[in-house]
Amino acid sequence: MRPTVRYAAFIALGIGAGIVAAASINVLRLGSRQIIVAPIVPPAVDERRAAEHLSSAVRFQTISRDFAPDVDRSEFLRLHAFLKEAFPHVHAILTREVVNGYALLYAWPGEDPTLRPIVLMAHQDVVPIAPGSESQWHAGPFSGEIKDGYIWGRGAWDDKGNLMSILEAVESLAAAGFKPRRTIYLTFGHDEEIGGTEGAKAIASLFKLRGVRPEFVLDEGLLIAEGIMPGLDPPVALIGIAEKGWATLKLTTTAPPGHSSMPGARTAIGSLARALDRVEQAPFPAVVGGVAGDMLRTVAPEMHGLNRMALSNLWLLEPLVRRQLAAAPSTNALLRTTTAITVIRGGDKENVLPGTAEAWVNFRLLPGDTVRGVVEHVRRAVDDERVGIEVLPQSSEASPVASQTSDGYGLISRTVRELFPSVVVAPGLMIGGTDSRHMAGVAENVYRFSPVRARAEDLSRFHGTDERISIENYVEMIRFYETLIRHAAGAR
Ligand SMILES: [Zn+2]
Repeated sequence: MRPTVRYAAFIALGIGAGIVAAASINVLRLGSRQIIVAPIVPPAVDERRAAEHLSSAVRFQTISRDFAPDVDRSEFLRLHAFLKEAFPHVHAILTREVVNGYALLYAWPGEDPTLRPIVLMAHQDVVPIAPGSESQWHAGPFSGEIKDGYIWGRGAWDDKGNLMSILEAVESLAAAGFKPRRTIYLTFGHDEEIGGTEGAKAIASLFKLRGVRPEFVLDEGLLIAEGIMPGLDPPVALIGIAEKGWATLKLTTTAPPGHSSMPGARTAIGSLARALDRVEQAPFPAVVGGVAGDMLRTVAPEMHGLNRMALSNLWLLEPLVRRQLAAAPSTNALLRTTTAITVIRGGDKENVLPGTAEAWVNFRLLPGDTVRGVVEHVRRAVDDERVGIEVLPQSSEASPVASQTSDGYGLISRTVRELFPSVVVAPGLMIGGTDSRHMAGVAENVYRFSPVRARAEDLSRFHGTDERISIENYVEMIRFYETLIRHAAGAR
C-alpha cells in the first residue's frame, strides 16, 4: 500500500470542515481490537539442537514436481526415519499412521474425549530450485547450512520450518510429561505443492470417515509482516481466516481454416482476441469489505497519520481507499476476484488460417464468488455464443471464512500477543493455496498462519532463491506451537 500522497492531496483539496471534524472523532473513538495479555516466560528451547534438526530436515530433497507423479520418493522415507530418530518421545507416545505411502498423521490422544481435537498441519514437500538459479544462492539450496544466524535452504521456511517446529514443541511437551486434555492431531502431507490430493485430502477423508470434528485447524499461511503498511509501525501477525479459490477457464474460437490469401471476415485468432479483451475490460468489482475490510478495520486503530484517518472512516472514504488499494496488484488481489490471461495458442504458420484458437484465463476467487459465477460473468462479458467457455479441471472454490470470535482464533491471537508483545494481530485473506483447503468439510474454523517474521524484501525467498529462517525466529516458532498447545490442551 502506498496511498499516503494522494490521501494528503485529497484532504488538502478541501473536504468540508464538518466532515473533517466527524472523521477526527471517529479516529478518537475507534478503540484497539488487540487483546491485552500478561507477558509470559517463554518455554525454554535448546537453540543449537533445534537448528541442527531443521538443518538436517532441509537436506532431504523431498521435492514435488508438476507433471511428475512417478518421481522417486525415497527421500520422504529417509526424512521419516530421521524424524523417528530426532523425536523419540513423539514416536513413543503419539500414534503414527502413514497415508498413501508418504503422508504422516500423528495423534496424541487427549484425556477428555468430550473435548473436540485440534489439528496442526504442515507439509513435507518443497518446490524445486529454478534451473540456473543454483549459483545465485548464498548457501547450497539443500545444504541446510547454518551461518550468519540463519538456517539456509529450500524448505527452511516453506514448510519444514513449521513441520519441525511443531515436532520440537510436541517433543518437548511429551518429554516433560505433559498430558493433553484434548486430542492433538499433526498432519504432514507430502504433495502440498502439487495440490495435496494424496496427502492432506486423503487425511481429510480419513477424518470425515472417523467422525473427527476438530475445534480448529491451523496450517501454514500468512506471516508476521514488518513494514508493509505506511502508518503502521508495529509488525502485524495476519491470521488467514480464508483462502481464495482458483479456476482456469479455457476460451476456444473456431473459423474455417484455409489459406491466408483469401481470409474470411472472422478469424479464430481475431475472435479470440476480441473475447479476451472483453474479459479484461470487465474485471470483477473491487470491494473494501469481507476479510480485507475486517483486516483494515482491525489495523486502523494501531496506525497513525492520514492512513489511520482514512481507514477509520471507511463509511466516508471507502471509494478513495478502494481506488488506492486497487492500484497495486498485491492489494488489488485482496479486494476482488482477479482475472489473469496466462496461456494463448493458435496458428503455427504465417500463411495458414488456423481452424481454432484457445486461451486460458486464471481466476482467483474471493470468498463469496463461485466458479459457476465466474463462468456466468465471463459469458456475459464475452457476449458471443460462438466462443466456447470451459472450466479446466482442478478448480477449487474459495474457502469458507473462519470465525474471528471462536476459541481457536482467540487462542492463536493470545499466543501471538504473549510471545510477540509488540505485534498487532489481524485477520487476513490468503491469496495462495494451502493444504488446509481440504479441511473445509472437516472443521468450521480453519486458520492459516505461520509465526514467521518477514519484511517485503524477504518475500522473494519464498519458493525462490536464498530461502532461509533466522535461528532466533525459528526458536520463536517452537515457542509459539508449544504455548498454543498448552493453551488449547493444558490443564485448566
Ligand atoms: Zn507451503
